[in-house]
Amino acid sequence: MKLPIYLDNHSTTPCDPRVVDAMLPYFTEKFGNSASRNHSFGWEVEEAVEHARKQIAHLVGADAKEIIFTSGATESDNLALQGIVAMYREKGDHIITSATEHRAVIDTAKYLEKKGVTVTFLSVDKAGMVSPDDVRNAITDKTILISVMLANNEIGTINPIAEIGKVAKEKGIIFHCDATQGVGKIPVNVQEMGIDLMSFSAHKIYGPKGIGALYVRRRAPRVRLEPMIYGGGHERGMRSGTLPVPLIVGFGKACELCEQEMATEAVRMAKMRDRLQEGIMGAMEEVYLNGHPTERLPGNLNISFAYVEGEALLMGVKEIALSSGSACTSATLEPSYVLRALGVGSDLAHSSIRFGIGRFNTDEEIEYTIDRMLKAVTHLREMSPLYEMAKEGIDLKSVQWAAH
Ligand SMILES: *Cc1c(COP(=O)(O)O)cnc(C)c1O
Repeated sequence: MKLPIYLDNHSTTPCDPRVVDAMLPYFTEKFGNSASRNHSFGWEVEEAVEHARKQIAHLVGADAKEIIFTSGATESDNLALQGIVAMYREKGDHIITSATEHRAVIDTAKYLEKKGVTVTFLSVDKAGMVSPDDVRNAITDKTILISVMLANNEIGTINPIAEIGKVAKEKGIIFHCDATQGVGKIPVNVQEMGIDLMSFSAHKIYGPKGIGALYVRRRAPRVRLEPMIYGGGHERGMRSGTLPVPLIVGFGKACELCEQEMATEAVRMAKMRDRLQEGIMGAMEEVYLNGHPTERLPGNLNISFAYVEGEALLMGVKEIALSSGSACTSATLEPSYVLRALGVGSDLAHSSIRFGIGRFNTDEEIEYTIDRMLKAVTHLREMSPLYEMAKEGIDLKSVQWAAH
């Protein structure tokens, strides 16, 4: 076994070597511009792009023409929200989303709020799930968009997307889903789920960084978007710019591999995840699972270790790459807004660790991680006066702390 161990696969994943092999010729021999219609250099790469588009579309039950390439899911989320608001503003000025969305949706929604759009941020239940009834009840005659994520990047909770899609269809409202964590790991079908717009990204599924897609429904309804980037009219005019052919070829290959291996891979990852969960939670007191006990991504495990600071714990297990709270907010010392939305208190939110198991993890690495976590948590608790007091039966809430 090699150290360090990578257990942060919700942040990003390594490229699968098979993906790299597929990409390599497109940096050198096959370097053409796919928009060059006049020579074979252009034709051969256009063919490669269209093949990748089919591989990507097939994984999610879409038509290849409905896939718009972007630089990643952040851009896809921005294009979906900003593009719909700009296109349909005269129809209404209200959008509905949830409190636990990725920052790419939350921050875009907040920007739109500043521009005069009314945004409803739906609360979630204690497992992190959005209720389809809450979505229905939030709809007004001014609602032009519903945006709810498929699977959460911190706690892995999987939302009832097909039911929410049904509500959206019933009311004739466009439905966007940030499916970045779900695509390639659990079955996704834009038809069955009633999705009109869907964001996803290659680097979360063993493809390269810098390429993503926005699925844009072409019929029933035909969704139109105001572009954010103008130029040569690429991607049906919705996203101009010369296509990054090697990245697109890699994205296509990554999707094909996921489609072929997802079923067996999900079983293998869930098994490792369950072993990790049992190995830690079965051996320690005052550890709490965050997220949904069953409706959860197969590789996700998020645990709060009471009386232990998440950041301190990560420092204690430096040879294992993990994340405390959300990777995107760990630059600040705010506790994770996702955990807060579930009703997790500030202390336990600060004590949370996210494990993200991926394709290249092994059973041996999981056993090593269990052992190291148990030792590190025990060590930190031994040094914690709070833990000592709690063990002596002192109710910490009743303690009068000196002012500082
Ligand atoms: C990673 C992630 C994003 C951002 O994707 P990029 O391709 O890195 O821009 C958006 N939403 C979710 C749920 C994610 O996990």
